[in-house]
Amino acid sequence: MSRFGSPASKQRSARRLACYKALAAFGALYFAALTDVASAQTADTVLFNGKILTVDKDFSTQQALAIAHGQVLASGSTAAMKKLAGDKAKLIDLGGRTVIPGLTDGHIHGIRAALTFGTEVNWIGVPSLKAALEKIRQAGKTQKPGSWIIVAGGWTEEQFAEKRRPTPTEVTAAAPDNPVYVQHLYDWLLLSPKAMEALNIHDDADVTPGGKLERDGDNRPTGVVNGNGNTLGKIFDKVPRPTFDQQVDGSAKFFREMNSLGITGIVDGGGVSMYPANYQAVFKLWHDKKLTVRVAYHLCAPKPGSELADLQNLTQLLPQGFGDEMLHFNGPGEILIWADWTDGDITPDGKAKLAELLRWAASKGYSIQLHWNPDRTVHDLLDIVEDISKDYPVRDLRWTVLHLYNASEDNLKRMKSLGLVWGVQDGLYFGGEKLQSEVGVEPARRLPPIVTALKLGLTVAGGTDAHRVSSYNPFVALQWYLDGTTIGGVKTRGDAEAPSRRQALEMYTRNSAFMANEDDRRGTLEPGKFADLAVLSADYLTAPVNEIGKIRSVLTMVGGKVVYADAPFTNMTAPPAGKSP
Ligand SMILES: [Zn+2]
Repeated sequence: MSRFGSPASKQRSARRLACYKALAAFGALYFAALTDVASAQTADTVLFNGKILTVDKDFSTQQALAIAHGQVLASGSTAAMKKLAGDKAKLIDLGGRTVIPGLTDGHIHGIRAALTFGTEVNWIGVPSLKAALEKIRQAGKTQKPGSWIIVAGGWTEEQFAEKRRPTPTEVTAAAPDNPVYVQHLYDWLLLSPKAMEALNIHDDADVTPGGKLERDGDNRPTGVVNGNGNTLGKIFDKVPRPTFDQQVDGSAKFFREMNSLGITGIVDGGGVSMYPANYQAVFKLWHDKKLTVRVAYHLCAPKPGSELADLQNLTQLLPQGFGDEMLHFNGPGEILIWADWTDGDITPDGKAKLAELLRWAASKGYSIQLHWNPDRTVHDLLDIVEDISKDYPVRDLRWTVLHLYNASEDNLKRMKSLGLVWGVQDGLYFGGEKLQSEVGVEPARRLPPIVTALKLGLTVAGGTDAHRVSSYNPFVALQWYLDGTTIGGVKTRGDAEAPSRRQALEMYTRNSAFMANEDDRRGTLEPGKFADLAVLSADYLTAPVNEIGKIRSVLTMVGGKVVYADAPFTNMTAPPAGKSP
């Protein structure tokens, strides 16, 4: 193609230029007007004497930030921002602390994790198996005999000093009077004898599809079930669920826990075991104006076989973006067709179904999230998207490919040219050793190729995929982006694919807000954007890399309102989340 373009394209660019000029003139007027409004406005909150990382396009750092009506009014020097303060303004001395835009997890099963947060036993970040079993023992003491004790993932033996999983005997001994359910990622499950009995599990036929019972020397089931996401999801569905009140309470507590880690937004991927009924608790919090995290939620096909029809039906009342600034529908995903829930090759039938479904999503203008693991087969997806792009402007729809840790440069280039977003979670923080043993030390050094993708100009967004397969802690993820070192202390990724601190923070703020279709409203601390922010316990830019995972928020705001406060800001405490324990 000629570099200078055809006469027709020259005409088009001339027209475009005239358009831009008119727009620019209008823009100048408009911004002049805005500046007047801004200077006329007074701040109701001023954070000063700090290090404010605005994450604007120059990644500028400011001393102080002025907030009015839940939005950033301006940033600058302490003296200048204090001048904007109204008579009754809240003045917050940051004492030199670092402030970042509130973090957005670009792919998390947060609505699901929240439902059971008040009733499950959590092993996330527990340093030893001994301590983990102690949590089960404590639950056995406080819960009624016969009530379920559930550890639903988020841990791996690499985090334990003992470097091993619990045995059935240990788990049973810890809570002999309760059915106990301990899930490891999406591949292994331990059920105590009482749990096996309650679920009526005796042989492999009781753990379909894909499940296999481990047996001892006498051919008796040990309580361990080996399987996949589908197997474990089916078993989990049979475990009694918390009551609606417990779900609402758990959700409030989970979102507050997220706030304590600087999270102010999530892009929710639905997931296995998520049905329409499971959204009622988050809707209740939203309706009661008690949501403390901005939720952009996707909706999965609820069951195999009728994916397109089910999604068409469920979205009749859900146009793209439906909702408000606290909660909105962000399109179908991450499970669009159940055949793509696999590490293997997609079947021709699965591919045809996926193509039909994606074409429908494009025709409706939906954003989507779609998980895809092996690079070897992603051309199947890219071919489909390329084909649909001939008829619909897919590149404007922010379609996101999730996971794909071993993406090749060629496929990243294709993703870039199709306008796809790449969601990279910290799954390899937990599974790095396994991957290394599968692909080899040298090939693992480029996985995932974050720097390559950023160099190609792809929008790469951060997240965790919590809570079954990983922890929801964003600082653990940020640390792993930077050092490529697993929870077990093995550095699997080389420094050539280590993003800078700035790039990693952008992935977790403006890029994940882009995924949520809200980068024009949040993700940076620029005038006019929501005052969603976190004051940090340590300086993200200068803390030793291996200390970044320990950073917490000491003050979190969503829309200028305090949603979490810890020392030295406890006098600003937000109202309690959920019921007291
Ligand atoms: Zn996921």
